[in-house]
Amino acid sequence: MRRSRYGTEGIHDVSVQHSIHVGGEWRHALSGATRDIIDPSDAKPFAQVAEGGAEDVDEAVAAARAAFEDGPWRRTSVAERAALLRRTADLLVCDRESLGLLESRDAGKTVEEGRVDVDCVADAFRYFADLVRGEAAGRVVDAGSDTVHSVVVYEPVGVCSLITPWNYPLLQASWKIAPALAAGNTFVIKPSEITPLTTVALIRLLGEAGLPAGVANVVTGPGETVGARLAEHPDVDLVSFTGGLVSGTKVARAAAAGVKKVALELGGKNPNVVFADACATSEGFDTAVDQALNAAFIHSGQVCSAGSRLIIEESVRERFVAELARRAGKIRLGRGTESGVECGPLVSEQQRARTEEYVASAIGEGAVVRCGGKRPEPSDVRPATGYFYEPTVLDQCHRGMRVVREEVFGPVLTVETFLTEEEAVALGNDTEYGLAGAVWTSDSGRARRVAGRLRHGTVWINDFHPYLPQAEWGGFGKSGVGRELGPSGLAEYREPKHVYENLSAAPVRWFRG
Ligand code: NAD
Repeated sequence: MRRSRYGTEGIHDVSVQHSIHVGGEWRHALSGATRDIIDPSDAKPFAQVAEGGAEDVDEAVAAARAAFEDGPWRRTSVAERAALLRRTADLLVCDRESLGLLESRDAGKTVEEGRVDVDCVADAFRYFADLVRGEAAGRVVDAGSDTVHSVVVYEPVGVCSLITPWNYPLLQASWKIAPALAAGNTFVIKPSEITPLTTVALIRLLGEAGLPAGVANVVTGPGETVGARLAEHPDVDLVSFTGGLVSGTKVARAAAAGVKKVALELGGKNPNVVFADACATSEGFDTAVDQALNAAFIHSGQVCSAGSRLIIEESVRERFVAELARRAGKIRLGRGTESGVECGPLVSEQQRARTEEYVASAIGEGAVVRCGGKRPEPSDVRPATGYFYEPTVLDQCHRGMRVVREEVFGPVLTVETFLTEEEAVALGNDTEYGLAGAVWTSDSGRARRVAGRLRHGTVWINDFHPYLPQAEWGGFGKSGVGRELGPSGLAEYREPKHVYENLSAAPVRWFRG
Protein backbone atom coordinates (compact mmCIF):
# COMPACT_ATOMS: atom_id res chain seq x y z
CA MET A 1 0.00 0.00 0.00
CA ARG A 2 2.60 2.57 1.07
CA ARG A 3 5.03 1.70 -1.75
CA SER A 4 2.37 2.43 -4.34
CA ARG A 5 2.50 6.12 -3.46
CA TYR A 6 6.08 6.46 -4.62
CA GLY A 7 7.66 6.80 -8.02
CA THR A 8 11.19 5.89 -9.04
CA GLU A 9 12.72 9.00 -7.47
CA GLY A 10 11.29 8.17 -4.06
CA ILE A 11 8.81 11.00 -4.20
CA HIS A 12 5.06 10.85 -4.49
CA ASP A 13 4.11 9.48 -7.86
CA VAL A 14 1.73 11.97 -9.43
CA SER A 15 0.95 11.29 -13.07
CA VAL A 16 -1.66 11.89 -15.75
CA GLN A 17 -3.66 8.88 -14.52
CA HIS A 18 -3.25 10.01 -10.94
CA SER A 19 -4.16 13.68 -10.77
CA ILE A 20 -7.93 13.96 -11.19
CA HIS A 21 -9.87 12.24 -8.43
CA VAL A 22 -13.64 12.01 -8.69
CA GLY A 23 -15.93 9.91 -6.52
CA GLY A 24 -13.05 7.77 -5.26
CA GLU A 25 -11.59 7.04 -8.73
CA TRP A 26 -8.35 8.37 -10.21
CA ARG A 27 -8.61 9.18 -13.88
CA HIS A 28 -7.54 11.20 -16.94
CA ALA A 29 -9.22 14.46 -17.94
CA LEU A 30 -12.41 13.78 -19.91
CA SER A 31 -10.86 15.67 -22.85
CA GLY A 32 -7.64 13.63 -22.60
CA ALA A 33 -5.61 16.87 -22.30
CA THR A 34 -2.40 16.94 -20.28
CA ARG A 35 -0.04 19.56 -18.86
CA ASP A 36 3.70 19.43 -18.25
CA ILE A 37 4.80 20.48 -14.79
CA ILE A 38 7.95 22.59 -14.94
CA ASP A 39 10.83 22.64 -12.47
CA PRO A 40 11.45 26.41 -12.10
CA SER A 41 15.13 25.91 -11.33
CA ASP A 42 15.91 24.68 -14.88
CA ALA A 43 12.63 25.23 -16.79
CA LYS A 44 12.46 21.51 -17.64
CA PRO A 45 9.30 19.41 -17.35
CA PHE A 46 9.59 16.79 -14.62
CA ALA A 47 6.00 15.54 -14.31
CA GLN A 48 2.78 15.50 -16.27
CA VAL A 49 -0.77 15.83 -15.01
CA ALA A 50 -4.24 15.70 -16.49
CA GLU A 51 -5.51 19.09 -17.67
CA GLY A 52 -9.10 19.08 -16.50
CA GLY A 53 -11.91 21.25 -17.83
CA ALA A 54 -15.37 22.45 -16.82
CA GLU A 55 -16.83 19.01 -17.65
CA ASP A 56 -14.49 17.38 -15.10
CA VAL A 57 -15.66 19.90 -12.50
CA ASP A 58 -19.29 19.01 -13.21
CA GLU A 59 -18.56 15.34 -12.52
CA ALA A 60 -16.55 16.13 -9.41
CA VAL A 61 -19.24 18.41 -7.98
CA ALA A 62 -21.86 15.72 -8.67
CA ALA A 63 -19.70 13.20 -6.78
CA ALA A 64 -19.21 15.60 -3.88
CA ARG A 65 -22.96 16.30 -3.80
CA ALA A 66 -23.82 12.60 -3.76
CA ALA A 67 -21.29 11.96 -1.00
CA PHE A 68 -22.73 14.85 1.00
CA GLU A 69 -26.40 13.87 0.63
CA ASP A 70 -26.16 10.08 0.76
CA GLY A 71 -22.71 9.23 2.07
CA PRO A 72 -21.70 8.58 5.66
CA TRP A 73 -19.31 11.53 6.16
CA ARG A 74 -21.60 14.28 7.41
CA ARG A 75 -23.22 11.81 9.81
CA THR A 76 -19.94 10.59 11.34
CA SER A 77 -19.32 11.62 14.90
CA VAL A 78 -17.01 14.49 15.68
CA ALA A 79 -14.68 11.98 17.32
CA GLU A 80 -14.43 9.95 14.09
CA ARG A 81 -13.76 13.04 12.00
CA ALA A 82 -11.08 14.22 14.44
CA ALA A 83 -9.48 10.76 14.34
CA LEU A 84 -9.30 10.86 10.54
CA LEU A 85 -7.64 14.29 10.63
CA ARG A 86 -5.11 12.98 13.14
CA ARG A 87 -4.36 9.90 11.01
CA THR A 88 -3.77 12.24 8.06
CA ALA A 89 -1.35 14.31 10.15
CA ASP A 90 0.55 11.12 11.01
CA LEU A 91 0.78 10.11 7.34
CA LEU A 92 2.02 13.60 6.45
CA VAL A 93 4.76 13.34 9.05
CA CYS A 94 5.65 9.90 7.69
CA ASP A 95 5.99 11.34 4.17
CA ARG A 96 7.71 14.57 5.24
CA GLU A 97 10.82 13.97 3.14
CA SER A 98 9.04 12.94 0.01
CA LEU A 99 6.43 15.71 0.19
CA GLY A 100 9.05 18.34 1.06
CA LEU A 101 11.06 17.31 -1.98
CA LEU A 102 8.02 17.33 -4.25
CA GLU A 103 7.04 20.82 -3.06
CA SER A 104 10.59 22.01 -3.62
CA ARG A 105 10.69 20.80 -7.22
CA ASP A 106 7.21 22.05 -8.01
CA ALA A 107 7.28 25.51 -6.36
CA GLY A 108 11.06 26.13 -6.45
CA LYS A 109 11.48 26.57 -2.70
CA THR A 110 14.33 24.90 -0.81
CA VAL A 111 13.73 21.36 0.42
CA GLU A 112 14.04 22.62 3.99
CA GLU A 113 11.23 25.11 3.35
CA GLY A 114 9.23 22.25 1.85
CA ARG A 115 9.76 20.16 4.98
CA VAL A 116 8.73 23.04 7.24
CA ASP A 117 5.58 23.43 5.14
CA VAL A 118 4.74 19.76 5.71
CA ASP A 119 5.16 20.23 9.48
CA CYS A 120 2.82 23.23 9.37
CA VAL A 121 0.28 21.22 7.34
CA ALA A 122 0.33 18.42 9.92
CA ASP A 123 -0.14 21.04 12.66
CA ALA A 124 -3.18 22.44 10.87
CA PHE A 125 -4.78 18.98 10.67
CA ARG A 126 -4.09 18.37 14.36
CA TYR A 127 -5.36 21.80 15.35
CA PHE A 128 -8.74 21.36 13.64
CA ALA A 129 -9.01 17.82 15.02
CA ASP A 130 -8.56 19.16 18.54
CA LEU A 131 -10.85 22.12 17.96
CA VAL A 132 -13.88 20.05 16.89
CA ARG A 133 -13.13 17.36 19.43
CA GLY A 134 -13.09 19.87 22.27
CA GLU A 135 -16.40 21.49 21.41
CA ALA A 136 -19.75 21.01 23.08
CA ALA A 137 -22.48 19.56 20.82
CA GLY A 138 -24.28 22.90 20.63
CA ARG A 139 -24.76 26.25 22.37
CA VAL A 140 -27.71 26.32 24.72
CA VAL A 141 -29.47 29.68 24.62
CA ASP A 142 -31.30 31.15 27.60
CA ALA A 143 -34.78 31.75 26.18
CA GLY A 144 -36.00 33.33 29.42
CA SER A 145 -38.63 30.60 29.93
CA ASP A 146 -38.71 27.21 31.65
CA THR A 147 -40.95 25.84 28.91
CA VAL A 148 -38.52 26.50 26.07
CA HIS A 149 -35.36 24.60 25.24
CA SER A 150 -33.25 26.51 22.73
CA VAL A 151 -29.97 25.35 21.24
CA VAL A 152 -27.73 26.46 18.37
CA VAL A 153 -26.06 23.55 16.56
CA TYR A 154 -23.46 23.73 13.80
CA GLU A 155 -23.96 21.85 10.55
CA PRO A 156 -21.71 21.49 7.51
CA VAL A 157 -22.36 23.99 4.71
CA GLY A 158 -22.41 21.28 2.02
CA VAL A 159 -20.29 21.03 -1.11
CA CYS A 160 -17.24 23.32 -1.05
CA SER A 161 -15.10 24.58 -3.94
CA LEU A 162 -11.54 25.12 -2.77
CA ILE A 163 -9.15 27.07 -5.03
CA THR A 164 -5.49 27.53 -4.10
CA PRO A 165 -2.36 29.39 -5.32
CA TRP A 166 1.18 28.25 -6.21
CA ASN A 167 3.32 29.79 -3.49
CA TYR A 168 2.38 27.49 -0.59
CA PRO A 169 0.42 24.81 -2.45
CA LEU A 170 0.17 22.20 0.30
CA LEU A 171 -0.16 24.64 3.18
CA GLN A 172 -2.93 26.68 1.58
CA ALA A 173 -4.77 23.48 0.70
CA SER A 174 -4.57 22.27 4.31
CA TRP A 175 -6.01 25.51 5.73
CA LYS A 176 -9.14 24.77 3.70
CA ILE A 177 -9.30 20.97 3.64
CA ALA A 178 -8.80 20.39 7.38
CA PRO A 179 -11.63 22.69 8.60
CA ALA A 180 -13.91 21.67 5.70
CA LEU A 181 -13.59 18.02 6.75
CA ALA A 182 -13.73 18.76 10.47
CA ALA A 183 -17.10 20.42 9.88
CA GLY A 184 -18.43 17.46 7.84
CA ASN A 185 -18.42 18.95 4.34
CA THR A 186 -17.45 17.38 1.02
CA PHE A 187 -15.29 19.29 -1.47
CA VAL A 188 -13.66 19.67 -4.84
CA ILE A 189 -10.22 21.25 -4.75
CA LYS A 190 -8.39 22.91 -7.62
CA PRO A 191 -4.71 23.54 -6.97
CA SER A 192 -2.80 26.08 -9.03
CA GLU A 193 -2.21 24.65 -12.49
CA ILE A 194 1.53 25.21 -12.12
CA THR A 195 1.98 23.51 -8.72
CA PRO A 196 -0.66 20.76 -8.37
CA LEU A 197 1.51 17.85 -7.23
CA THR A 198 1.47 17.95 -3.43
CA THR A 199 -2.27 18.66 -3.32
CA VAL A 200 -2.88 15.52 -5.37
CA ALA A 201 -0.57 13.61 -3.00
CA LEU A 202 -2.57 14.92 -0.01
CA ILE A 203 -5.84 13.69 -1.51
CA ARG A 204 -4.26 10.27 -1.81
CA LEU A 205 -3.21 10.38 1.85
CA LEU A 206 -6.78 11.26 2.88
CA GLY A 207 -7.98 8.12 1.12
CA GLU A 208 -5.34 6.12 2.89
CA ALA A 209 -6.43 7.62 6.21
CA GLY A 210 -9.92 6.21 5.53
CA LEU A 211 -11.92 9.11 4.08
CA PRO A 212 -14.99 7.72 2.28
CA ALA A 213 -15.13 7.96 -1.54
CA GLY A 214 -16.55 11.18 -2.98
CA VAL A 215 -15.78 13.36 0.05
CA ALA A 216 -12.46 14.69 -1.31
CA ASN A 217 -12.26 15.34 -5.06
CA VAL A 218 -9.53 17.07 -7.02
CA VAL A 219 -9.56 18.52 -10.52
CA THR A 220 -6.25 19.81 -11.88
CA GLY A 221 -6.46 22.49 -14.55
CA PRO A 222 -6.47 26.20 -15.32
CA GLY A 223 -8.17 28.99 -13.41
CA GLU A 224 -10.19 30.39 -16.32
CA THR A 225 -11.95 27.06 -16.91
CA VAL A 226 -11.74 24.76 -13.89
CA GLY A 227 -11.54 27.57 -11.31
CA ALA A 228 -14.28 29.64 -12.94
CA ARG A 229 -16.64 26.64 -13.12
CA LEU A 230 -16.00 25.81 -9.47
CA ALA A 231 -16.83 29.39 -8.48
CA GLU A 232 -20.10 29.54 -10.41
CA HIS A 233 -21.35 25.94 -10.20
CA PRO A 234 -25.00 25.97 -9.10
CA ASP A 235 -24.58 22.91 -6.91
CA VAL A 236 -21.71 24.34 -4.85
CA ASP A 237 -22.59 25.91 -1.48
CA LEU A 238 -19.32 27.59 -0.54
CA VAL A 239 -16.27 28.88 -2.40
CA SER A 240 -13.01 29.36 -0.55
CA PHE A 241 -10.34 31.03 -2.65
CA THR A 242 -6.72 31.98 -2.00
CA GLY A 243 -4.91 33.90 -4.70
CA GLY A 244 -4.51 37.31 -6.26
CA LEU A 245 -6.86 40.29 -6.19
CA VAL A 246 -7.79 40.12 -9.88
CA SER A 247 -8.90 36.48 -9.89
CA GLY A 248 -10.35 36.83 -6.37
CA THR A 249 -12.62 39.60 -7.61
CA LYS A 250 -13.86 37.37 -10.45
CA VAL A 251 -14.50 34.54 -8.00
CA ALA A 252 -16.42 36.85 -5.67
CA ARG A 253 -18.58 38.04 -8.56
CA ALA A 254 -19.34 34.49 -9.74
CA ALA A 255 -20.10 33.28 -6.21
CA ALA A 256 -22.32 36.29 -5.51
CA ALA A 257 -24.45 35.52 -8.58
CA GLY A 258 -25.31 32.17 -7.00
CA VAL A 259 -25.55 33.58 -3.43
CA LYS A 260 -22.87 31.19 -2.23
CA LYS A 261 -20.89 31.64 0.92
CA VAL A 262 -17.48 32.95 -0.06
CA ALA A 263 -14.13 33.29 1.67
CA LEU A 264 -11.25 35.14 0.00
CA GLU A 265 -7.60 35.21 1.05
CA LEU A 266 -5.94 37.68 -1.29
CA GLY A 267 -2.73 39.62 -1.57
CA GLY A 268 -0.79 41.96 0.67
CA LYS A 269 1.61 44.89 0.56
CA ASN A 270 2.98 44.53 4.01
CA PRO A 271 4.79 47.25 5.97
CA ASN A 272 7.78 46.47 8.16
CA VAL A 273 8.04 49.57 10.37
CA VAL A 274 11.42 50.00 12.08
CA PHE A 275 12.04 52.68 14.74
CA ALA A 276 15.58 53.86 15.46
CA ASP A 277 15.37 52.70 19.09
CA ALA A 278 15.12 49.07 17.89
CA CYS A 279 18.63 49.52 16.46
CA ALA A 280 20.18 51.23 19.48
CA THR A 281 22.24 48.17 20.48
CA SER A 282 24.31 46.07 18.10
CA GLU A 283 22.18 42.98 18.90
CA GLY A 284 18.99 44.95 18.25
CA PHE A 285 20.35 46.29 14.97
CA ASP A 286 21.51 42.84 13.85
CA THR A 287 18.13 41.26 14.72
CA ALA A 288 16.08 43.94 12.96
CA VAL A 289 18.23 43.73 9.80
CA ASP A 290 18.20 39.93 9.81
CA GLN A 291 14.43 39.79 10.19
CA ALA A 292 13.87 42.46 7.53
CA LEU A 293 15.91 40.26 5.20
CA ASN A 294 13.84 37.22 6.07
CA ALA A 295 10.57 39.18 5.84
CA ALA A 296 11.31 40.30 2.30
CA PHE A 297 13.27 37.50 0.69
CA ILE A 298 12.17 34.12 2.05
CA HIS A 299 10.85 32.04 -0.88
CA SER A 300 12.10 34.85 -3.16
CA GLY A 301 9.43 37.18 -1.78
CA GLN A 302 6.61 35.01 -3.14
CA VAL A 303 4.76 35.16 0.16
CA CYS A 304 1.42 36.90 0.66
CA SER A 305 2.66 38.35 3.95
CA ALA A 306 6.14 39.28 2.65
CA GLY A 307 7.54 42.38 4.36
CA SER A 308 8.05 44.06 1.01
CA ARG A 309 7.86 47.65 2.34
CA LEU A 310 10.60 48.67 4.76
CA ILE A 311 9.40 51.85 6.52
CA ILE A 312 12.34 53.06 8.54
CA GLU A 313 13.07 56.04 10.80
CA GLU A 314 15.21 58.47 8.81
CA SER A 315 18.02 58.66 11.38
CA VAL A 316 18.99 54.96 10.94
CA ARG A 317 18.11 54.56 7.29
CA GLU A 318 21.57 54.71 5.75
CA ARG A 319 23.24 52.34 8.20
CA PHE A 320 20.31 49.90 8.10
CA VAL A 321 19.90 49.85 4.33
CA ALA A 322 23.64 49.49 3.72
CA GLU A 323 23.78 46.40 5.95
CA LEU A 324 20.57 44.99 4.53
CA ALA A 325 21.85 45.38 0.97
CA ARG A 326 25.20 43.84 1.90
CA ARG A 327 23.50 40.76 3.35
CA ALA A 328 20.89 40.53 0.57
CA GLY A 329 23.74 40.44 -1.93
CA LYS A 330 25.14 37.35 -0.18
CA ILE A 331 21.95 35.24 -0.24
CA ARG A 332 22.83 31.95 -1.92
CA LEU A 333 20.45 31.48 -4.84
CA GLY A 334 20.07 28.12 -6.50
CA ARG A 335 18.09 24.98 -7.10
CA GLY A 336 16.09 24.26 -3.96
CA THR A 337 17.32 20.67 -3.81
CA GLU A 338 21.03 21.64 -3.60
CA SER A 339 22.55 21.73 -0.15
CA GLY A 340 23.69 25.17 1.01
CA VAL A 341 21.18 26.98 -1.18
CA GLU A 342 19.18 29.54 0.82
CA CYS A 343 16.69 30.73 -1.77
CA GLY A 344 15.20 29.20 -4.90
CA PRO A 345 14.05 30.68 -8.20
CA LEU A 346 10.81 32.45 -8.98
CA VAL A 347 8.04 30.04 -9.84
CA SER A 348 7.74 30.87 -13.54
CA GLU A 349 9.11 32.95 -16.39
CA GLN A 350 5.96 35.05 -16.12
CA GLN A 351 6.60 35.80 -12.45
CA ARG A 352 10.20 36.82 -13.19
CA ALA A 353 9.12 39.03 -16.10
CA ARG A 354 6.59 40.69 -13.80
CA THR A 355 9.31 41.34 -11.20
CA GLU A 356 11.63 42.79 -13.84
CA GLU A 357 8.90 45.05 -15.09
CA TYR A 358 8.23 46.39 -11.56
CA VAL A 359 11.93 47.06 -10.95
CA ALA A 360 12.28 48.87 -14.29
CA SER A 361 9.24 51.01 -13.57
CA ALA A 362 10.56 51.86 -10.06
CA ILE A 363 13.92 52.95 -11.50
CA GLY A 364 12.03 55.05 -14.04
CA GLU A 365 10.18 56.71 -11.14
CA GLY A 366 13.38 57.52 -9.25
CA ALA A 367 14.16 54.47 -7.06
CA VAL A 368 17.83 53.74 -6.39
CA VAL A 369 18.99 50.11 -6.67
CA ARG A 370 21.10 49.26 -3.59
CA CYS A 371 21.55 45.61 -4.57
CA GLY A 372 20.20 43.13 -7.10
CA GLY A 373 17.96 44.46 -9.85
CA LYS A 374 19.07 41.77 -12.30
CA ARG A 375 19.31 38.06 -13.04
CA PRO A 376 22.26 36.31 -11.38
CA GLU A 377 25.08 34.66 -13.28
CA PRO A 378 24.50 30.91 -13.80
CA SER A 379 26.53 28.55 -11.61
CA ASP A 380 26.84 24.87 -10.64
CA VAL A 381 23.71 25.14 -8.49
CA ARG A 382 21.95 27.70 -10.72
CA PRO A 383 21.18 26.55 -14.26
CA ALA A 384 21.07 29.33 -16.86
CA THR A 385 17.56 28.26 -17.81
CA GLY A 386 16.14 28.66 -14.26
CA TYR A 387 13.91 31.59 -13.32
CA PHE A 388 16.35 33.20 -10.87
CA TYR A 389 16.35 36.86 -9.87
CA GLU A 390 18.62 38.56 -7.38
CA PRO A 391 17.24 39.86 -4.08
CA THR A 392 16.72 43.55 -4.78
CA VAL A 393 16.66 46.53 -2.42
CA LEU A 394 15.19 49.74 -3.85
CA ASP A 395 16.00 52.87 -1.88
CA GLN A 396 14.41 56.36 -2.14
CA CYS A 397 10.91 54.99 -2.68
CA HIS A 398 7.62 56.76 -2.03
CA ARG A 399 3.89 56.07 -2.13
CA GLY A 400 3.52 57.47 -5.63
CA MET A 401 5.41 54.50 -7.08
CA ARG A 402 3.63 51.43 -8.43
CA VAL A 403 6.26 49.18 -6.83
CA VAL A 404 5.25 50.52 -3.41
CA ARG A 405 1.49 50.28 -3.95
CA GLU A 406 1.13 46.99 -5.84
CA GLU A 407 2.04 43.45 -4.87
CA VAL A 408 5.18 42.40 -6.79
CA PHE A 409 5.36 38.86 -5.42
CA GLY A 410 9.09 38.68 -6.09
CA PRO A 411 12.36 39.42 -4.23
CA VAL A 412 11.94 43.20 -4.19
CA LEU A 413 12.12 45.34 -1.05
CA THR A 414 11.28 49.04 -1.17
CA VAL A 415 12.56 51.57 1.38
CA GLU A 416 10.51 54.53 2.65
CA THR A 417 11.37 56.72 5.62
CA PHE A 418 9.56 58.60 8.39
CA LEU A 419 10.37 61.19 11.03
CA THR A 420 7.52 60.73 13.53
CA GLU A 421 5.38 57.91 14.94
CA GLU A 422 2.33 59.50 13.38
CA GLU A 423 3.97 59.40 9.97
CA ALA A 424 5.06 55.78 10.45
CA VAL A 425 1.49 54.69 11.20
CA ALA A 426 0.09 56.70 8.29
CA LEU A 427 2.57 55.08 5.88
CA GLY A 428 1.90 51.60 7.29
CA ASN A 429 -1.80 52.04 6.70
CA ASP A 430 -1.48 53.69 3.31
CA THR A 431 -2.31 50.59 1.26
CA GLU A 432 -5.49 49.15 -0.21
CA TYR A 433 -4.43 45.81 1.28
CA GLY A 434 -4.27 44.94 4.98
CA LEU A 435 -2.87 41.45 5.42
CA ALA A 436 0.09 41.81 7.79
CA GLY A 437 2.63 44.24 9.17
CA ALA A 438 5.29 44.60 11.84
CA VAL A 439 6.63 47.22 14.20
CA TRP A 440 10.19 47.15 15.59
CA THR A 441 10.87 49.23 18.68
CA SER A 442 12.36 48.86 22.17
CA ASP A 443 9.61 51.09 23.61
CA SER A 444 6.79 48.76 24.70
CA GLY A 445 4.25 51.58 24.97
CA ARG A 446 4.98 52.66 21.40
CA ALA A 447 4.89 49.03 20.22
CA ARG A 448 1.33 48.59 21.56
CA ARG A 449 0.19 51.99 20.29
CA VAL A 450 1.44 51.38 16.78
CA ALA A 451 0.22 47.76 16.69
CA GLY A 452 -3.19 49.00 17.82
CA ARG A 453 -3.37 51.51 14.98
CA LEU A 454 -2.10 49.37 12.10
CA ARG A 455 -5.06 48.17 10.03
CA HIS A 456 -3.79 44.69 9.14
CA GLY A 457 -5.05 41.17 9.92
CA THR A 458 -1.79 40.21 11.65
CA VAL A 459 0.57 42.62 13.39
CA TRP A 460 3.93 41.46 14.69
CA ILE A 461 5.85 43.30 17.40
CA ASN A 462 9.61 42.74 17.09
CA ASP A 463 9.11 39.74 14.82
CA PHE A 464 8.01 38.93 11.28
CA HIS A 465 6.20 35.99 9.67
CA PRO A 466 5.25 33.58 12.47
CA TYR A 467 1.62 32.49 12.58
CA LEU A 468 -0.25 30.11 14.86
CA PRO A 469 -2.94 27.67 13.73
CA GLN A 470 -4.94 28.76 16.81
CA ALA A 471 -5.01 32.39 15.65
CA GLU A 472 -7.06 33.75 12.76
CA TRP A 473 -5.23 34.53 9.50
CA GLY A 474 -6.65 36.93 6.91
CA GLY A 475 -6.83 40.53 5.93
CA PHE A 476 -8.44 43.91 6.21
CA GLY A 477 -9.35 45.84 3.07
CA LYS A 478 -8.63 44.17 -0.25
CA SER A 479 -6.62 41.40 1.42
CA GLY A 480 -9.80 39.41 1.61
CA VAL A 481 -13.08 38.40 3.15
CA GLY A 482 -13.30 36.03 6.11
CA ARG A 483 -10.54 34.26 8.01
CA GLU A 484 -8.63 31.00 7.88
CA LEU A 485 -7.25 29.17 10.94
CA GLY A 486 -8.47 29.70 14.49
CA PRO A 487 -12.12 29.17 15.48
CA SER A 488 -13.22 31.54 12.67
CA GLY A 489 -11.46 29.28 10.16
CA LEU A 490 -13.79 26.46 11.19
CA ALA A 491 -16.85 28.72 11.38
CA GLU A 492 -16.46 29.49 7.63
CA TYR A 493 -17.40 25.88 6.89
CA ARG A 494 -20.45 25.70 9.12
CA GLU A 495 -24.05 26.78 9.12
CA PRO A 496 -25.36 27.62 12.59
CA LYS A 497 -28.88 26.25 13.09
CA HIS A 498 -31.17 27.39 15.89
CA VAL A 499 -33.41 24.62 17.23
CA TYR A 500 -36.22 26.07 19.39
CA GLU A 501 -38.29 23.55 21.27
CA ASN A 502 -41.52 24.48 23.00
CA LEU A 503 -41.89 22.10 25.95
CA SER A 504 -45.46 23.18 26.62
CA ALA A 505 -47.16 23.85 23.29
CA ALA A 506 -50.44 25.84 23.34
CA PRO A 507 -52.41 28.02 20.86
CA VAL A 508 -51.05 31.56 20.34
CA ARG A 509 -54.56 33.15 19.79
CA TRP A 510 -53.18 36.13 17.83
CA PHE A 511 -55.96 35.56 15.34
CA ARG A 512 -59.25 35.38 17.18
CA GLY A 513 -61.64 34.08 14.53
P1 NAD B 1 -3.96 33.60 -8.86
O1 NAD B 1 -5.06 34.47 -8.41
O2 NAD B 1 -3.39 33.79 -10.20
O3 NAD B 1 -4.40 32.07 -8.81
C1 NAD B 1 -4.90 31.48 -7.62
C2 NAD B 1 -5.78 30.32 -7.99
O4 NAD B 1 -6.93 30.83 -8.65
C3 NAD B 1 -5.14 29.35 -8.98
O5 NAD B 1 -5.55 28.05 -8.68
C4 NAD B 1 -5.71 29.79 -10.31
O6 NAD B 1 -5.74 28.78 -11.27
C5 NAD B 1 -7.12 30.18 -9.89
N1 NAD B 1 -7.80 31.11 -10.78
C6 NAD B 1 -7.26 32.02 -11.64
N2 NAD B 1 -8.25 32.68 -12.28
C7 NAD B 1 -9.42 32.21 -11.81
C8 NAD B 1 -10.79 32.49 -12.09
N3 NAD B 1 -11.15 33.40 -12.99
N4 NAD B 1 -11.73 31.82 -11.40
C9 NAD B 1 -11.39 30.90 -10.48
N5 NAD B 1 -10.12 30.56 -10.20
C10 NAD B 1 -9.14 31.22 -10.86
O7 NAD B 1 -2.84 33.69 -7.73
P2 NAD B 1 -1.43 33.01 -7.73
O8 NAD B 1 -0.58 33.80 -8.70
O9 NAD B 1 -1.55 31.55 -7.90
O10 NAD B 1 -0.95 33.26 -6.22
C11 NAD B 1 -0.40 34.44 -5.80
C12 NAD B 1 -1.42 35.30 -5.10
O11 NAD B 1 -1.99 34.59 -4.01
C13 NAD B 1 -0.78 36.52 -4.48
O12 NAD B 1 -1.59 37.64 -4.74
C14 NAD B 1 -0.76 36.20 -3.01
O13 NAD B 1 -0.72 37.32 -2.17
C15 NAD B 1 -1.99 35.40 -2.85
N6 NAD B 1 -1.93 34.59 -1.62
C16 NAD B 1 -2.64 35.00 -0.53
C17 NAD B 1 -2.56 34.28 0.67
C18 NAD B 1 -3.31 34.71 1.90
O14 NAD B 1 -3.32 33.97 2.87
N7 NAD B 1 -3.93 35.87 1.92
C19 NAD B 1 -1.77 33.13 0.72
C20 NAD B 1 -1.07 32.74 -0.41
C21 NAD B 1 -1.15 33.49 -1.58
